[in-house]
Amino acid sequence: MDDLKMMVLPRNIIMGSGVIDEIPSIVRALGLPGQAVVVSDEGTFDAAGRMVMDGLGASGIESSRFIVTGADRDNVERLKAEVERGMFLVAVGGGRPIDVAKVAAFEVDTPFISVPTAASHDGIASDRASIIEDGLKSSSAARSPIAVVADLDVISRSPRRLWVSGFGDVVSNKTAVLDWRLASRIRGERVSYYGSALSDLSADVLVNNAEVVASGTAEGFRILVKSLVLSSVAMSIAGTSRPASGAEHMFSHSLDRIAERPALHGEQCGVGSIIMMYLHGGDWESIRDALRIVGAPTDAVSLGLDEDTVVEALVTAHEINPERYTILNGGLGKKAAVNVCKITQVIS
Ligand SMILES: [Zn+2]
Repeated sequence: MDDLKMMVLPRNIIMGSGVIDEIPSIVRALGLPGQAVVVSDEGTFDAAGRMVMDGLGASGIESSRFIVTGADRDNVERLKAEVERGMFLVAVGGGRPIDVAKVAAFEVDTPFISVPTAASHDGIASDRASIIEDGLKSSSAARSPIAVVADLDVISRSPRRLWVSGFGDVVSNKTAVLDWRLASRIRGERVSYYGSALSDLSADVLVNNAEVVASGTAEGFRILVKSLVLSSVAMSIAGTSRPASGAEHMFSHSLDRIAERPALHGEQCGVGSIIMMYLHGGDWESIRDALRIVGAPTDAVSLGLDEDTVVEALVTAHEINPERYTILNGGLGKKAAVNVCKITQVIS
């Protein structure tokens, strides 16, 4: 039964100013078990975790606090040991608490609510998580949240650099989708029509509304967070990260591997997407211009990386995930890599 595929989508997406106060009523409406474990790191506990615990307590829902120290197997196991029958998780984060909670929730089969405190990447509602296993960053099977509670007041207080990175992560879907369609033409890979269309749309909405997002207004955050959630849902529909992760993501992972101080995920994916769009023969300038409008990096200098590192990352990017067919299939020679980086002004 090749066609049998289960899509696990978030059941409720609650977005708006002050919606964090709605968590107790959401918990009741969903009929969740009695006790919560609130998962955060030190920073996100102060930003919103304490507020979540106070709100639950005031409504008579008991909760305990779990502080994540890293997105790794140790933390997942430590959290799993805390979760007993009849408990659910509320992950307040940042990437790390959400990644740890969604993997633990999957492995102990318990529901979890995702409360993003920043709009820095599109993993908010997806069923994959980035966890370090045996010293290596890997994509682990995880549980899609039963509800996403995106409080725009909380998110708008996060550092600008974080949400600008989220913008880059979603805009980079443009080239991920092209890579997927290329793989379909060349390798016969099956493409989810809805997954790819939704992913492409979430990127277009940002490209077309870059000024509004750049303004940092409530409307800008609404557009950005909606696009991040839609991008995440696109991956759940597709049952793979394909719609939101192509060669531009390999380039970013490649930088994570070789750069002494890598930039943020979405910042690197954005620059990667400029390069890959050029290689696809598409409109790379419109991606670069949208990134420029929000103040996202568009070259090696603004990524804080030296040019040799960027070229090296591009030359070796195809080694990151060789099974995933992309425009970089077989790799780019050094000369070609330098050439494309110069044309797209990623290096001078
Ligand atoms: Zn990404």
